Amino acid sequence: MWGVVPAGISGVMVKVEVDVARGLPSVGVVGLAHTSVAEARWRARSAIVNSGFTWPNSRITIGLSPADLPKTGTSLDLPIAVGLLAATSQIAKLGSNVSFIGELGLDGAIKPVPGVLAAAISAQRHGVSTFIVSAGNSREAREVEGLEVIAVTNLRQLIAVLRNEDAGEEVDQFPAMIDDANALGDFSEVRGHDVARFALEVAAAGGHHCSLLGEPGVGKTMLAQRFVSLLPELNQQQALDVTSVHALAGRIESGHGLLRRPPFIAPHHSISAGAMLGSVRNGVLLPGALTLASEGVLFLDEAPEFDRPCLEGMRQPLEQGSLALMRVGQTVIAPARFQLILAANPCPCGQAIGRGDGCTCGAQQKRRYLQKLSGPLMDRIDIRISLTRPTDAHLRMSAGESSDVIAQRVLLARDRAHVRWTNESWNLNAQAPGSVLRSSYPPDAAGQGLLERAESRGLNPRGSDRVLRMAWTLADLEAQDQPNNDHVATALSMRGGGFE
Ligand SMILES: [Zn+2]
Repeated sequence: MWGVVPAGISGVMVKVEVDVARGLPSVGVVGLAHTSVAEARWRARSAIVNSGFTWPNSRITIGLSPADLPKTGTSLDLPIAVGLLAATSQIAKLGSNVSFIGELGLDGAIKPVPGVLAAAISAQRHGVSTFIVSAGNSREAREVEGLEVIAVTNLRQLIAVLRNEDAGEEVDQFPAMIDDANALGDFSEVRGHDVARFALEVAAAGGHHCSLLGEPGVGKTMLAQRFVSLLPELNQQQALDVTSVHALAGRIESGHGLLRRPPFIAPHHSISAGAMLGSVRNGVLLPGALTLASEGVLFLDEAPEFDRPCLEGMRQPLEQGSLALMRVGQTVIAPARFQLILAANPCPCGQAIGRGDGCTCGAQQKRRYLQKLSGPLMDRIDIRISLTRPTDAHLRMSAGESSDVIAQRVLLARDRAHVRWTNESWNLNAQAPGSVLRSSYPPDAAGQGLLERAESRGLNPRGSDRVLRMAWTLADLEAQDQPNNDHVATALSMRGGGFE
């Protein structure tokens, strides 16, 4: 008999074995069961008796394995009850391709539990073909392809289903996909900011992390929010992963449809390291901002104001796309494959723009402010631009291109990159290692010459790699087969942004 318990962002299959032996009547649970699981025996007994079945007057042992996995919650109620009914021959034995998840009410009702989508994904991967859930959980579970989901409302109905006397509950298909792309605004509403608009198009096309430097109120947040509208919709696997994580965090209700748009997560700089990185409680992951942003965008406004542990904690996700959270005797790997948009004021007071007349910060204070972002973090940020406040003339200009128009170009550029990287372990230019680009994917002769001249004037190797990655994205956006002189020149202009 198989059940599933939440563990990290996925579920872990738990084998439930029920042994009924002669002896003094008792019910024992073996296998690192938390109180909530140990109490399942009493819920199961009441549910079985109140549904008209028999609870034997025997020595009952309920074994849960793997034994070293801490088990918590009420999701094992159902497999425990079904295991008892099978062990006492009240129903036929079941194959290992059937799994159950659900909480039992004392009256035999089968209630929804959290984390069913993640559990269903794990069950399907584990070879389960029939997944039996509470009717309240069935919409989530039915999103997983290759899994027959049977929804039931009470134990009596479940037994009828197992005896082929009932087909379970009819459940509507998932509601139409959720599309909150418009909620964050459209690029047609942006006046001026030509450089930033273009930089964000390049960032979207190549998957590049991006930093925006500019005085308070210049429009950094407004631009970052609209960046999401340039990104393609999530594929099915990404949508399942994103929805699982957001359901686990309680950000969407059980039964909510799949999230199809890349998430946009913008934590305030006062966020704690725990909320930024996530935590583990009773074996269950509480996703942090880095994980909630996975497959989407993480926007850090006033980035130098974040606590150092928050900024340091981003190194591993930026390198590996995931994050290891350690608790006593247990490591949970959380996904954290986000695109970073980082914004900063030019100095602590925010006024060091142009000639910086209004700035009241000392030289050392100013240096320390941006230095908080230096090193390994900034190495990962290909595109770095400075924003200037749009002039009155800009603000009188007609509306710019809509997000849809730009997103089309982004999609075509990404397609070109996908084709080029077909046989590689990455598919976005931003993920291409510099060594591979330098040895096998150089720009044309003129572009290469320009890059070498920049190197001889002090462009360091990491900076040179970033230029090369951007140049490829610029070539993809123009449907060119190789970066040329112009692409390298443009990439060179987008790499400093006040940070070096
Ligand atoms: Zn200042």
